[in-house]
Amino acid sequence: MYAQFDLDIPDTLAGALEVMAGAGRRDIAPLAGGTNLLIDIRSRRERPDRVVGLGNIGELCGMGVGADRVTIGARTTVSELLASPEIAAAAPSLIDASKVFAGQMVRNTATVAGNIACGSPAADLVPPLMSLDAEVTLASKSGTRTVALDDYFLGYKKDARRADELITKISWSRLPDNAVNSFYKLARRKGDAITITGVAVTIAVAGGKCSMARIALGAVAPVVLRAKAAEALLEGAALTPELIAEAAACAAGECSPVDDIRASADYRRHTVEALTRRLVSQALRKG
Ligand SMILES: Cc1cc2nc3c(=O)[nH]c(=O)nc-3n(C[C@H](O)[C@H](O)[C@H](O)COP(=O)(O)OP(=O)(O)OC[C@H]3O[C@@H](n4cnc5c(N)ncnc54)[C@H](O)[C@@H]3O)c2cc1C
Repeated sequence: MYAQFDLDIPDTLAGALEVMAGAGRRDIAPLAGGTNLLIDIRSRRERPDRVVGLGNIGELCGMGVGADRVTIGARTTVSELLASPEIAAAAPSLIDASKVFAGQMVRNTATVAGNIACGSPAADLVPPLMSLDAEVTLASKSGTRTVALDDYFLGYKKDARRADELITKISWSRLPDNAVNSFYKLARRKGDAITITGVAVTIAVAGGKCSMARIALGAVAPVVLRAKAAEALLEGAALTPELIAEAAACAAGECSPVDDIRASADYRRHTVEALTRRLVSQALRKG
């Protein structure tokens, strides 16, 4: 049984932003695939008094993979990512994450923006997008702004989105041709399991030295985070096994995991180290 709320289903982005402009006076929740929100409303974790269905808004759909930039509309579903050879070429980590995301039915409706906006540190599309240096575009009636995904999360389930804003798209500059990008989700099962540790990396090597290092960690802190000290160790250096091991240990030191029903904090730290070492070493072999 759902709590009562008013429902708007606008046909245009402008119409949705008009409704969202009332946020502040009322608690308004955007509804995309509903795979988080409807469950939260049913369990009374969320109690919006107005819901804005985004399902008719074509402006939030579609993907564009250009020569320089990749753009994903807010309403892009996990299944749509998996069906795109262009995304597979431009963002392998996103495909790695999509393959182990929930089950088929959820993938068909779960959206990229919903995954970001739910604010979970275990949201599986976020580490890949962070490893791609993605930016989030937010729109309100008063204009549009762009926030680096790395700056988007302010704390556990706290983010930079104002109540009157919608995420409209996610975009990033295309990786250089020599970059290798991947993600690994450690969980009790492949798919339909909440992540214990998620690690996404982007590594590029030029002239024997690491020219780009991005390491993003999921489910091991209140927010998905970049392991920037580990990245700094790698960038500009020759990637020896010793340096990779040092950077992996450094990444483990940068997270702040909790003990919970799925794993202990120690296990999470240990797996951050092991997975970082593995993914960076694999990238070096592939690059
Ligand atoms: C059985 C099951 C398995 C799951 N497995 C996984 C998994 O393996 N990995 C994983 O990461 N998640 C998983 N999830 C969680 C969920 O499917 C994802 O987080 C999904 O991406 C949420 O997207 P959605 O479109 O359904 O969002 P919704 O439920 O519609 O919304 C989620 C939140 O985002 C907000 N929102 C939605 N769109 C916008 C927008 N454009 N602008 C601003 N705010 C917006 C909503 O108001 C709400 O707060 C699972 C859920 C279920 C039920």
